[in-house]
Order: sequence, then C-alpha cells, then structure tokens
Amino acid sequence: MKRIGFVGLGNMGSKMVINLLQANYEVIGYDINEKFIDKLIPNGIHKASSLNDITDDVDVIITMLPNGEVVKKVFETIIGKLKPDTLLTDCSTIDVQTAKDLHKMCSDKNLLSLDAPVSGGVGGAEKGTLTFIVGGNEKAYNLMLPLFEVMGKKSVLCGPASSGQAAKACNNMLLATTMIGVGEAFNLGENLGLDLKKLFDVLSTSTGNCWAINTYCPIEGVGPNSPADNNFQPGFSVNLMLKDLTIALKAIKDTNTLAPFGTKSQKNFKRMVDDKKGELDFSAIVNFNK
Ligand code: NAD
Repeated sequence: MKRIGFVGLGNMGSKMVINLLQANYEVIGYDINEKFIDKLIPNGIHKASSLNDITDDVDVIITMLPNGEVVKKVFETIIGKLKPDTLLTDCSTIDVQTAKDLHKMCSDKNLLSLDAPVSGGVGGAEKGTLTFIVGGNEKAYNLMLPLFEVMGKKSVLCGPASSGQAAKACNNMLLATTMIGVGEAFNLGENLGLDLKKLFDVLSTSTGNCWAINTYCPIEGVGPNSPADNNFQPGFSVNLMLKDLTIALKAIKDTNTLAPFGTKSQKNFKRMVDDKKGELDFSAIVNFNK
C-alpha cells in the first residue's frame, strides 16, 4: 500500500497523518478547512485542493470526520472515481446503519471497505497508540493492518461490515455508565465522611475497580493525574460522549435491547450539554449529578 488519501485533518486526523508521514507513507490530504491542510505541509503532506484531487492513483482512503452524514457525502463524491479494489477505511465514529450503507456503496463499486472507529483520544492519536475497532472482511483488514500498526498499538477485527461501530457503541455506553456510577460512589463516600484518597485505595484494588477509577479518576487530587486535576479540560468532551451515546441509543431502539442504564446515561449527558457544559471533559458528570 503506497499512496494514501486522508480526509478530515482535525484533532484526530492531523495526528494520525503525522504518524503515517513519519513512517514514510505518501499522504495526500483534504479538509474543508484549508488551514488544517496547510499546517501539515511542513510534515510532508501533499495538498488536495478538492475532494476529487485525492482520488488520483490512491490505494487507500482514510476518513476521520465528524459524523455519518458527512462521511456519506464524502463517499458519494469520490466513490465513482476510484480504481477497483481501492480500500476505504472510515475511522470516524458514526451510527451503525450508516456504516452498513457505506460498506454496501463500496461493494457495489468493487471497492474494499472497513469501519474502524478508534479508542484512545487525541493523546493516543498523537502517540500512535490508538485501538482500532474494526468491521469488514479479512482481505481488507489484512491490507490495512500495517497502517493500523503505524497509527495504533492494537486493532481488533470484530466481525463483518459495521461490527466496529457496533462494538464502539457498546464500549462507550459502558464507559458513560461506569463513570456515572464511579461519581455516585465517591459522592456517597464523601457524604459518609470518608477520606477520598483512602476510598480510591480501596476501590481501585477491590471488585469495584475499573478504568474510570484506576486510570481516569474523576476526583481532583485523588488517584492518577486526570482531567479532574485540570478543571475538567478534555480529554474526551461531554459533546463527544453525547454523540456516541446518541448512536448507542439509536442502536438500542433498532435492536429492541433493554438497556435502562445506557438510556439514562444518554439523558444525563444531554442535560449537561443543555446546561452549556458540553466543552468539559465527560468525567465532570460526577459533579453534575451531586
Ligand atoms: P474534529 O472536528 O477536530 O475534526 C473533523 C475534521 O473534519 C475537521 O477538521 C473538519 O474541518 C473536517 N471536515 C468536516 N466536514 C468535512 C468535509 N465535508 N470534507 C472534508 N473535511 C471535513 O474532530 P475529531 O476530534 O478529529 O474527531 C473526528 C472523529 O473521530 C469523530 O467522528 C469523533 O467522534 C471521533 N473520535 C474523536 C475522539 C477525540 O477524542 N477527539 C476520540 C475517538 C473518536
């Protein structure tokens, strides 16, 4: 795989591109905001002045865009111009049904495709330690693997088309729910007069331990350094968490799944956004529920 087209050079995409360039891949990049392309020129990116420009002789196209609607529009623009067997890998977080539609659009044109949303945030994108949560066939996955290894530390092929988005929705619903639960445990401990450092010591080594406590503890001055120690600057914002939970909520409805906690979590984060707290790190939910 030699020449890569990359669409969406924002917080995540720009960092992923830098890792690809450092590994000597040739990348032609496009973003509707031209200044995001220009910023990467010193790193060696080729500038596409339109979406059509990136279709020229590329072997793979990676998209890292805000939502499914945008990704669909981009695919519709470029799909007719790509040579057969070009691989389209969408790393954006989008809803499961749109991911399925995109795979179908690609297979109808004899193109390969993967849905490959990521976990690990901007820090992981920068360090090249993302986890890719992948859906699609093995042929496409094996072609993409060397690039996943440059941009991340782990990739899991979860199953056929859209399985990556499905697994990511499950993960983030669980994360939201556990973070709310962790907040409630600390709030109860505080009201019972406990020293919260001692409580952390217990929770992080007992059966209640989880990522939201052990590596992202949402209480200032307690546990490892986290957004709670930095006025809840993200990190992973409430806005992005609400986006992911809304995707999960749609999947819950589409599949008639009984998920009362996930459903309630979405409402909790929506209240935060309605209260103009969307820019904070999602772990700030612990104070919002006090
Ligand atoms: P971002 O807003 O920083 O970047 C998105 C980029 O897409 C922007 O630069 C924007 O100008 C560009 N764009 C929008 N419409 C376009 C179009 N039609 N054509 C070309 N470019 C267009 O967002 P981000 O934080 O980089 O997130 C990207 C994706 O990754 C999202 O789906 C998000 O949910 C997911 N994600 C983000 C994080 C995170 O911590 N930021 C973590 C995991 C997953």
